[in-house]
Amino acid sequence: MEPMDETTMEPGTGTGVIEEEDTRTDYRLDEGDHDRFSHYVDKSKLTEAYVSGTPVIALCGKVWVPSRDPERFPICPECKRLYDLGPKGREREWKQRAREERQG
Ligand SMILES: [Zn+2]
Repeated sequence: MEPMDETTMEPGTGTGVIEEEDTRTDYRLDEGDHDRFSHYVDKSKLTEAYVSGTPVIALCGKVWVPSRDPERFPICPECKRLYDLGPKGREREWKQRAREERQG
């Protein structure tokens, strides 16, 4: 095993490697079938989804069953925003969202 642990993100073309610290979670893009966007999804969950056919949850909260053969769609802006926040930013955002939902 080589110590290759790069998170290779390819939203479209010409985008380099984005490295995130403090996390081993590897995200990649996959199509979200009905709203015609590519969403960021935990890669390990995506692999599992391919095998078992279980739905995955994108960073933006979208749930769907991914296909092995994603078409090229524009990146979901919400996923992109959350990805750019990094792991800590996302955690903060999700906690805040949960709090808001509880308040109604
Ligand atoms: Zn999304």
